[in-house]
Amino acid sequence: MQFRDLHRQYEAMKAEMDEAMLNVAASGAYIMGPQVAELEQQLAAYVGVKHCITCANGTDALRLALMALGIGPGDTVFVPDFTFFATAEAVAMVGATPVFVDVDRDSFNIDTCDLNEKLTAACGSKTMATPKAVIAVDLFGRPAGYDYLVNYCRERGLMLVEDGAQGFGGSIGDKKACSFGDISTTSFFPAKPLGCYGDGGALFTDNDEWASLLRSYRVHGKGTDKYDNVRLGLNSRLDTLQAAVLQVKMRHFDDELHAVNHVAKRYTELLHGKVHVPEIPNGMVSSWAQYTIQAENRDELQARLKAAGIPSMVYYPRTMSRQTAFAHLGQQPCPIADRLSQTVLSLPMHPYMTDEEIEMVSSIILK
Ligand SMILES: *Cc1c(COP(=O)(O)O)cnc(C)c1O
Repeated sequence: MQFRDLHRQYEAMKAEMDEAMLNVAASGAYIMGPQVAELEQQLAAYVGVKHCITCANGTDALRLALMALGIGPGDTVFVPDFTFFATAEAVAMVGATPVFVDVDRDSFNIDTCDLNEKLTAACGSKTMATPKAVIAVDLFGRPAGYDYLVNYCRERGLMLVEDGAQGFGGSIGDKKACSFGDISTTSFFPAKPLGCYGDGGALFTDNDEWASLLRSYRVHGKGTDKYDNVRLGLNSRLDTLQAAVLQVKMRHFDDELHAVNHVAKRYTELLHGKVHVPEIPNGMVSSWAQYTIQAENRDELQARLKAAGIPSMVYYPRTMSRQTAFAHLGQQPCPIADRLSQTVLSLPMHPYMTDEEIEMVSSIILK
């Protein structure tokens, strides 16, 4: 059994995919071919925002977002302590200071009480950098608590960045993930909900000024043309080939979203009451980047699954405040994030899982 069966996905769309990829090969327009702009329009329409700007990967997307918002040395950015390293890394890479905020045990997302405490502490401190932004992460596919966060940030003059690397496809009410931040980002790494055949990423915003800044930053800070450089930027474009792959995948995306929601529902029916299962509130849709249970005997459970030939993953075994790269910041560890790092286990999850496979995984856990 595969943890995320990308081969089955390819088989399901092989004819269209092969045609799309060969078209790019034959066209010669490997950088910024017409598929890139077409895809950007499709993604902006899907998410319901004015601008989509693609880039080379989800980490660059975060970094570009912070650059466009003018965040750098002397600024503080609040990030969840329980996330993929890139969320915090991007903050440090622009020279700002990440402050790690604990998460909620059930949603895995940034805890608003702890955010408030950390913000109050930062505002009261004379030595600390100026609070500028919050990066909320749609961890495992579940949108963060934007009903609260959007107003919270607006009232306090903080920028809100949505790290939707795992969240693309999710929604709250009729608003899609990647539309909640002042700037939102996603990743097209192959195993993400919408993945390409290599690295890729995108940014979303309604703001015209940030959108044009982002288009400049992703090509060496270009001005009127790419040999007129008006600022320092990155080389961070999405390949035409990846855009073509994503155009094919977008045609199947809503069916896949439906399928992963079926897989999650089935897991929950089988496991509910026996282990701590993830629950999504009414009106919210998860893109189910991961189906993550919590168990005291996590390591034993993982060993038993492995013995039965079933792969599972620990996302994430180490919190941000415990990363060696951030040791110099000297921040206190966050208790809920610490606990989660000891108890979480992500089960095989993808749109092409059969009911038999879901039952097989569940039966080992129930034993
Ligand atoms: C994957 C991921 C990223 C980084 O995306 P890449 O495309 O791998 O650079 C950032 N944040 C989160 C939450 C992720 O899961």
